[in-house]
Amino acid sequence: MQELEPSQVRSISSLAAGCPCCKHHPLTLDRIVVERGALLEAAPYLKERGYRQVALVSDENTYRAAGGRLASELAAAGTRTVLAGAKPDAQGDVVADEAGLIRLMLDIPQEGTDALLAVGSGTLHDMVRFIAFKMGKPFISVPTAPSVDGFTSVGAPLIFGGEKITIPAIAPDAIFADLDVLIEAPQPLVAAGFGDMLGKYTSLFDWRFGHLVRDEPYCPAAAQITKQALLACVRNAEAIAERSTEGLRILMNALIESGLAMQLFGQSHPASGAEHHLSHYWEMEYLRLGRKQLLHGAKVGVACAVIAQTYHRLAADESFDKLAAGHG
Ligand SMILES: [Zn+2]
Repeated sequence: MQELEPSQVRSISSLAAGCPCCKHHPLTLDRIVVERGALLEAAPYLKERGYRQVALVSDENTYRAAGGRLASELAAAGTRTVLAGAKPDAQGDVVADEAGLIRLMLDIPQEGTDALLAVGSGTLHDMVRFIAFKMGKPFISVPTAPSVDGFTSVGAPLIFGGEKITIPAIAPDAIFADLDVLIEAPQPLVAAGFGDMLGKYTSLFDWRFGHLVRDEPYCPAAAQITKQALLACVRNAEAIAERSTEGLRILMNALIESGLAMQLFGQSHPASGAEHHLSHYWEMEYLRLGRKQLLHGAKVGVACAVIAQTYHRLAADESFDKLAAGHG
């Protein structure tokens, strides 16, 4: 088994070592594979970890994109696989709410399951990270589109009673992001991943502002990781839009690193601010109205522009200076 620390974890750990905040949480991922054919490395990894039975969680689309192939790889490696399927609601969306979570949990046997595999989108990952946490089992991430930064984070944004709440759960032990799979992802999902990254402009500003005016806890290393990931995407926007292998590699790595920054800080501040609140508000409103959901990252990208405008407007207002000076 390759016991080497993943290079992203290594570089983040060395950046964190020089950080004055000294309140870092350990990074728990022991394998990060972002390359063509990464899917083929998942079955040997699970075998090396000694897992004899796993639950593979996917939905109809993601089973077609990668789940089916992974299931045959696992069978060939002699790993028993229980298939668990996330079902869409009446609008055709997989929703991480009470009903969706219970339905999935019923498909996953407590006895004999050594690990859970999340094969799919951000929503599916949030459901699996919560269920794995509650079952006390590890989970492995297999993204099928570079659409969100939540693959490697700890918190699970879930819907309870129609409200979106982020519940602390667990990060995956490993992530296998196959560029051959990601390249087949529909363009709107890639654009959504880029939108989720763009949102870091306002989340980083919000976090810094909250730290300066209300002494919110702040970690310069986590902020730096997010900023670097954001700038890598902005500099390579063309390659990402063209969905070239290199562009998708840059986007996927940025999404992973943004998730790791949240893991390092222990909360979502480095990568989620007012633009995420607005996105979550729109999501709850669409659920309430029974409308088909928009992609998370698309909402975040638009919300980022709205929040940036709001900050600019406030900055032009004198009373804002008083608030910023702590007299508001
Ligand atoms: Zn996001």
